[in-house]
Amino acid sequence: MAQRSGLSVFNSRTILFVALICSFASASAQDNPDAVETILTNARIYTVNAKQPWAEALAIRGGKIIAVGTNKEMAAYRGPFTKTLDAQQHLVLPGFVDCHIHFMEGSLGLTHVDLNDAGSVAEIQKRVKDYASAHPDEPWITGMGWTYPTFKPSGLPDKKFLDEVVPDRPIYLSAFDGHSSWANSKALQLAGITKDTPDPTNGKIVRDEKGEATGALKEAAGNLVSKLMPKPTREERLTALRLGMHEANKFGLVRVHSAGGDFEYLDLYDQLRKDGQLSVRIYVAYFLDPPGLSADAIDSIEHVRDTYHDAWISGGAVKTMLDGVVEAHTAAMLTPYSDDPSLSGKLFWDPAKYTEAVDELDRRGFQIFTHAIGDRGVRTALDAYQHAQKKNHTPDPRPRIEHIETISAPDINRFGKIGVIASFQPLHSYPDEDTLSIWARNAGTERAQRAWVWKSIQKEGGRLAFGSDWPVVTLNPWPGVQTAMTRQTRDGKPDAGFVPEQRLSLEDAIKGYTLGAAVAGRREETEGSLEAGKLADLIILSEDLFKMKPVDISKEEVLATLVGGKVVYESPKWKSFQIKEGQ
Ligand SMILES: [Zn+2]
Repeated sequence: MAQRSGLSVFNSRTILFVALICSFASASAQDNPDAVETILTNARIYTVNAKQPWAEALAIRGGKIIAVGTNKEMAAYRGPFTKTLDAQQHLVLPGFVDCHIHFMEGSLGLTHVDLNDAGSVAEIQKRVKDYASAHPDEPWITGMGWTYPTFKPSGLPDKKFLDEVVPDRPIYLSAFDGHSSWANSKALQLAGITKDTPDPTNGKIVRDEKGEATGALKEAAGNLVSKLMPKPTREERLTALRLGMHEANKFGLVRVHSAGGDFEYLDLYDQLRKDGQLSVRIYVAYFLDPPGLSADAIDSIEHVRDTYHDAWISGGAVKTMLDGVVEAHTAAMLTPYSDDPSLSGKLFWDPAKYTEAVDELDRRGFQIFTHAIGDRGVRTALDAYQHAQKKNHTPDPRPRIEHIETISAPDINRFGKIGVIASFQPLHSYPDEDTLSIWARNAGTERAQRAWVWKSIQKEGGRLAFGSDWPVVTLNPWPGVQTAMTRQTRDGKPDAGFVPEQRLSLEDAIKGYTLGAAVAGRREETEGSLEAGKLADLIILSEDLFKMKPVDISKEEVLATLVGGKVVYESPKWKSFQIKEGQ
């Protein structure tokens, strides 16, 4: 937050300075009816516009791009009040979009203990302890982001590690994937969990050889503890969202597509907009649970679409989940899991009810996001979308499938044929120990050949859109770009890449986060590339992606982010904004 307020002081001072200079200079300056507010010059602009892929400068007025071309051409748009942003030959791209995010949840996580990349028990203990001493009045200590390989050999944490650092206050920490959680003794005691507590439906209290709870709680067992935690207040949520937006802008994000957890809080986003604090555009999906689509749900979605439909906040999308995840054998597969032939996952929906819901949503023109991870889940979604298309003939519906971790070979070309958007989160395929040992073991060698097949879908005419699924993984898109291109970890493992034929070019990876994302959110008329008439949402990058080794791209840093022509983030490194009076 310090950085944020520092930034606004900088801006208002410089604006005042420019205004003073201009008031002296304007008498002598020629009036130019074409004058713009801002000219970005000396840039290496990769526009993502096929008709003019590269440019040197662009002109911005009223939050929109007026012209794109050379430094010389943009001089025609200079007037006495025009600001100049000298990019000093840095690479400029359209602002990035995260097509699958849980923004409220991720933002709230920023205000609690963040265990992302903690790596060891000692580091987790340090972060918990530091947080506890910095927040002596908070009755609960909560957080998320721990990973299973941290706790070898069992893969599950133990309450004793938390008791060692904070014995007197309850602690509740979720795993990075949200499927398990970890409580200390105090929290277990408050929840009344003893030897005799039965496992809840769809959950498991992990126990030691004496039957005592170890502190690890699987799936729904976590609710026994989490239901006791105080709910965040409106103010806490607003504070969290401000932090979340800063985090998003810092990594170059200008828009997010919410895949759950934000629909209920649209008034908070609206509040931030009214206060002039919204710096991330948001497209929000209603989260539809099985067994069916109710009239109330339709009313809510219609109401939100009627209320929010501009470039900052918009509704009209519906997210639903057809299946679970491969790691827990809950993703729905056409054939049994390789490591356990008794399991093949289950669809969360009765396929007939799902098809009926898709038909109705499609008929009403809502955009549908279906979470489908297993090959059976993906096929069920494709079948339903095709059914709706034949029945309704809704023009350009662009239904989406989220995740698509595995797919049956004959379904690959259906994305292009039916016009279904393939919404991938490249970092989910990050080929670390978890992916290669657990995911690939469960899916099996045959299916693992078709893991995250973005390139194959694209080759067959399907359109790609990329995102993160934050807070499951970081919202930083640069490791995602790297993974989409290399199918390797940051250390270049495995040597040949994980299913290397799925590697994308840099241009295609960028497109997934820009123009492809705009198409996936029905906004390509006004967003997704840098061309005249589109919104002035852009980023200035520290290193030139076109000159970097792909395996290093995860280290990319954003120097500045502009949303609607306004600087919403600039890095401490970025000293080169030179604001000059018009000439
Ligand atoms: Zn998600």
